[in-house]
Amino acid sequence: RRPVVAIDGPAGAGKSTVTRRVASKLGLLHLDTGAMYRAVTWLVLETGVALDDEARVVETIAPAAIELVPAATPDEPARTYINGKDVTEAIRTTHVTQHVSQVSALPAVRRMLVARQQRYGDRGGIVAEGRDIGTHVFPDAELKIFLTASLPERARRRARDLEQQGRAPVDLAQLEGEIARRDDYDRSRAVAPLTKADDAIELLTDNLSLVAVVDRIAQLYRQ
Ligand code: C5P
Repeated sequence: RRPVVAIDGPAGAGKSTVTRRVASKLGLLHLDTGAMYRAVTWLVLETGVALDDEARVVETIAPAAIELVPAATPDEPARTYINGKDVTEAIRTTHVTQHVSQVSALPAVRRMLVARQQRYGDRGGIVAEGRDIGTHVFPDAELKIFLTASLPERARRRARDLEQQGRAPVDLAQLEGEIARRDDYDRSRAVAPLTKADDAIELLTDNLSLVAVVDRIAQLYRQ
């Protein structure tokens, strides 16, 4: 059986950076399920389909080819393609971020993407990150981590990321509001809500460096 490490947690907890590095350190594939939900949300918005028209949303997403291509080094984010188009930057815009939770809450959308995520594991051992990996996608994962940080810390990290991307400075209180709203939405949906799996290990990362978090997870995996 191929190993699976599940990394779940709220928005802005540093899952992507941590997951990429853990995968590289353990020689496993990295699966960013948030990028998949973001890519299909981008496609639905681009196509002009109303987000509450579940049938048309499903029609738009069902035939779409989604590809996640790892970068050459773990310092760089993977690239995301949908129907052959590189949407790596487009899926991180405020517009997509503001609508992704609504699309992700549609049960039919989740069914389609979860099936694809489970097949990803056929290629080899994986470290998968998201909101429902340990609870729904890979409930038998050998290691489950619930990665969190306080809301102010998550907002500070997000602001730093945006700054590094050369984007305009953002108000921390506003960022906190956006992150909290998305978490509330993800926690309160009917299907596969954001929650810690009973057997997940919670890591609060406020006072931990990236290296310390990655080492801790690698150590737990090797135990
Ligand atoms: O992790 P990221 O912030 O990119 O996720 C974007 C959104 O995708 C989340 O806010 C959530 O609505 C949705 N998502 C999900 N289930 C996952 C991963 C992401 O519902 N496994």
